[in-house]
Amino acid sequence: MIIKGGVVYDPANGVLGEEMDICIDAGAVAEAAGGPTIDARGMLVLPGGVDAHSHIAGPKLNAGRIMRPDDGRIGTEPRRGLCRPCTGYTVPNSSAIGYRYARMGYTTVFEAATPIIESRHTHEELEAIPILDKGALTLFGSNWTVMECVGEKDLPKLSAYVAWGLRASRGYGVKIVNPGGGEAWGFGSNVKGLHDPVPEFNVTPAEIIHELARANERLCLPHSIHLHFNNLGKPGNYSTAIETLDLLKDIVPSRDRQAVHVTHMQFSAYGGTGWRDFESKAPEIADYYNKNDHATMDMGQIIFGSATTMTADGPLEYANARLLHQKWSNHDIELEESSGVVPLVYIRGSPVNAVQWAIGLELALLTEDPWKVLLTTDNPNGGPFVKYPEVIALLMSHKRREEEMAKLPELLSKRSVIGSIERELGWGEIAVMTRAAPAHVLGLKEKGHLGVGADGDVSIYEIDPREVDPGSDPALVERAFTQAKYTIKAGEVVSRDGEIAGIPQGRTFWTDANVPEEDMARLMASLKEKFEKYYSIQMSNYMVQEAYLSRPVAVRAGVEVAQ
Ligand SMILES: [Zn+2]
Repeated sequence: MIIKGGVVYDPANGVLGEEMDICIDAGAVAEAAGGPTIDARGMLVLPGGVDAHSHIAGPKLNAGRIMRPDDGRIGTEPRRGLCRPCTGYTVPNSSAIGYRYARMGYTTVFEAATPIIESRHTHEELEAIPILDKGALTLFGSNWTVMECVGEKDLPKLSAYVAWGLRASRGYGVKIVNPGGGEAWGFGSNVKGLHDPVPEFNVTPAEIIHELARANERLCLPHSIHLHFNNLGKPGNYSTAIETLDLLKDIVPSRDRQAVHVTHMQFSAYGGTGWRDFESKAPEIADYYNKNDHATMDMGQIIFGSATTMTADGPLEYANARLLHQKWSNHDIELEESSGVVPLVYIRGSPVNAVQWAIGLELALLTEDPWKVLLTTDNPNGGPFVKYPEVIALLMSHKRREEEMAKLPELLSKRSVIGSIERELGWGEIAVMTRAAPAHVLGLKEKGHLGVGADGDVSIYEIDPREVDPGSDPALVERAFTQAKYTIKAGEVVSRDGEIAGIPQGRTFWTDANVPEEDMARLMASLKEKFEKYYSIQMSNYMVQEAYLSRPVAVRAGVEVAQ
């Protein structure tokens, strides 16, 4: 395939708005190619979108669907052409997730959290999502074996467990959610801060995070630890954020990437002592990021309207349910995690919600380097991913933000600085935040760019960046990004003008990390005992077999790769 004459933004390769041809041969970007030609003159051409943090598969999605028959009625689309029927808005069915991402020009999406024991289900749902390449991050932060290894200060055994856990879950990277909090929640409690010991385990969240980061680098994993902070969602929690980031300054990345990725930072950049004096501390967080280079973040932008929150942070969801008088689902996952689901609505008239809205945007606009901030809504926690084009328009247009602020409580100007920020992001910066940076943060070398050898994933938008000024015409930007003119996945047109044109089965990335045999042997001795005494299933039924993934891609890592 040849994509002719488009205005290409490929920031990873230093291409910013050049008119050029992109050739795709055998599914990858090539020097030259034959085959069909797509006329992209006067259109914006980007690498396929990459979402590094989205909740798209697993039991918590299903809990959300079951709890929300009201949501199922919002996004109903009948069977049409190649497409199966679609339902749902914040928690769509699996088919709808694939089609809707593809229509927006996204080709790769990573599920943000799966407990090992539930990964079989997570992969069944990932397999049911058409078109997209995907992967899943495996939860380790409240896991008994992790806490035991941390308590015993046994880094080799911890590393062996991480490697085993990634294999057992066919997971891609290490996700840590409110470390220790999931276990404390088993006793109806939570950890209060970084140095508050986990009940029954003599370890602190700080120790869990730090040792998992060391194990992550010892194993030379493609992605860094992926961290949801303690105290998330609470007023005043920005100090926990900064304290945690400081804790990780001595971690030396084993690959060319960050030492820690902080997810949905919006929920962790809160000031105030309670909801009455709740305020934005995004400027403090952005300032920290401007002065330090060991961390990246994603926004976790909120979108006014309906959302479904779902997280492994069980105690947080209990607090949300009580605060909002909402229905609530709670789940305790054997020796591994807890989780919860709470539907909610972000309301323009609510000063708290207005400040949350401002915080996400402030983080992206006040952090100078777009490579440090990925565009997300923590789908569907801050809002559904189909609203990304709205976030793009807000980031590119001061005027668009002012229009929105006019609908929000006046108190906002006292509790945030959003009104004073004039910065408008450019096309290249948006390409970084939605393509190049997420791929780099995840360590996906063939994603997020259009250099020779990259995956042939391209999105083409019907907007000419040489003619449209996004600052004054944000509606045009939002419309263009809502529906790609073409989305191309591995050289195949999968969406054209909003119509799904192809439904290939995407690949699933997982990380295959090797550790010394003696470390694995020691680990297995203690795991065997756990399965016999405590787990509800046997170890042989616990492992997700390779056959479960129809198109697996095993990324090599491990102690040997590190050397
Ligand atoms: Zn999340």
